Amino acid sequence: KRVGFALVGLGNLTLGELLPAFGNCKYAKVTALVSGNPEKAQKVAKQYGIPDKGIYNYQNFDNIKNNPDVQVVYIVLPNSMHEEFTVRSANAGKHVLCEKPMSVNSESAQRMINACEKAGKKLMIAYRIQYEPNNQKAKEWTRNKKMGTVKIIDAINTQNQGEPGQWRLKKALAGGGSLPDIGLYCLNTARYLLGEEPVQVNATLFNTPNDPRFKEVEETVFFQLQFPSGALANCTTSYGVHESKRYRCHADKGGYFGLDPAFSYHGLRMEGSQVQDGMEVKINPSAGDKNQFALEIDHMARCVTENKKPYTPGEEGLQDHVIMEAIYESAKTGKPVKLKKIDKIDAFR
Ligand code: NAD
Repeated sequence: KRVGFALVGLGNLTLGELLPAFGNCKYAKVTALVSGNPEKAQKVAKQYGIPDKGIYNYQNFDNIKNNPDVQVVYIVLPNSMHEEFTVRSANAGKHVLCEKPMSVNSESAQRMINACEKAGKKLMIAYRIQYEPNNQKAKEWTRNKKMGTVKIIDAINTQNQGEPGQWRLKKALAGGGSLPDIGLYCLNTARYLLGEEPVQVNATLFNTPNDPRFKEVEETVFFQLQFPSGALANCTTSYGVHESKRYRCHADKGGYFGLDPAFSYHGLRMEGSQVQDGMEVKINPSAGDKNQFALEIDHMARCVTENKKPYTPGEEGLQDHVIMEAIYESAKTGKPVKLKKIDKIDAFR
């Protein structure tokens, strides 16, 4: 029997990617929708065969505790609303799959972990990259030293972030600008590839003067991460230039590999370069194009049926918030910021 999911927030990601992705899932199905717009909810429910009793709004959401067809609540709302709906879901006896970034700061992320722990419910953060086969292959190559030791990771995630007025450009709703929204992919993927936690960050931040989009949140961040093994990551994120979403892992024995695109929704491709018979040749070790949203959702469903901790639990989202706060501090003070040494977190077991 498939695990039932309630989707909270019927915005671009839900309508464009998540609802269609359930069609590719093996272990999950949508059984409820939560929306502030009743007409939209009705229409989408009809389209996906969700019964009327599975439609909720933000006010009556807590009644979901009486719906046995819902086991997981998938939160796809503006970042500042993640904590409220995680706490309400856990209190309603439901497991939580929450979109990235986990919240708007580390204190809030910690409260989300506490609420789910107290209620005895699972909490997973939707880091889809970690469930995607090309990224998984790059992780294996990094960990198995396929081309030697990866010493430098170079990652970039940029896009031109549309019109002023949208929630992503409001600090109270988004928590920050390009860094928590898309720079997060560079940060989280570097940690994922290496299986290590950074011990020091160094960052600078830039806003184009008089661009009305960047009154409250940052446009561009350059940040560097130093890992205990000596590996370094050099990361770029921006809301002010055309889309570029890729990374390369530079190893010490005759090659590099990475993904281009690495962080897009579809069409991810692994590529690289390797010395063969004294010649530098391009390689395309692609792992195929699978629906990463479906893989991520199915992972959560299996964690519920098999009673396992998700591969990307709340602690993973909290750690990214802690590091992003250090990145902002470094940019503000103009100095490197040291991070507390922590044991490898569960995600890297
Ligand atoms: P969106 O603006 O398209 O949708 C947000 C939804 O929240 C809308 O249905 C809107 O009506 C609702 N909402 C409720 N209260 C709101 C308020 N006060 N202001 C604005 N909207 C409000 O956003 P989205 O792109 O779907 O992003 C939603 C979440 O998903 C965010 O946390 C985002 O970071 C995350 N996301 C993740 C990915 C990914 O690849 N994993 C991609 C896009 C978005």
